[in-house]
Amino acid sequence: TSAADAVRPLIRTIPDFPKPGIQFRDITTLLADAYGLRAATHGLAELAACHPCDVIAGIEARGFIFGSALAVEVGCGFVPLRKPGKLPVDTIGEDYQLEYGEARLELDPTLIVDGARVLLVDDLLATGGTAVAGARLLRRAGAVVEQALFVIDLPDLPGRGALSAEGVEAHALIAFE
Ligand code: IMP
Repeated sequence: TSAADAVRPLIRTIPDFPKPGIQFRDITTLLADAYGLRAATHGLAELAACHPCDVIAGIEARGFIFGSALAVEVGCGFVPLRKPGKLPVDTIGEDYQLEYGEARLELDPTLIVDGARVLLVDDLLATGGTAVAGARLLRRAGAVVEQALFVIDLPDLPGRGALSAEGVEAHALIAFE
């Protein structure tokens, strides 16, 4: 799409970050570009249009940026999936494995209406561990989670399949092989 054509050249690739051999896809150059940010938001909205939802859930931190922009664009609310210890109320949490070490997402389950269709949003899909944890957490709060949106997919990594095995369909604006 034209949105993808506008977004792709605005992603900066940083070699060997955060460790040797990793090509880090940096979206801050996209965010800083007025036309790029709008194109990314509109492109995500086009993907979202096929999958009506009641609320958008974004994953801390970059999923907050695209998720909240998308929520404004499509006219629904936004729920944050947060890193541990940030929410001021009782939470439920989902632990998951990163390549090195452990991570955890937390949610205030009272923000999810039982049976609400939640669209999961993050900047990038790699192994899928983060998004799978997010989907599980939302479901434990009563959400129906069937669709996830990303700006970037890394199709050489198993994220799409991991989400599919969880019953979640992944959509991305662009892919980097
Ligand atoms: P996964 O859990 O392996 O799918 O990794 C996805 C999560 O790690 C997302 O929350 C991304 O923000 C982050 N991530 C992994 N690789 C990159 C990258 O190259 N650029 C930006 N974020 C990344």
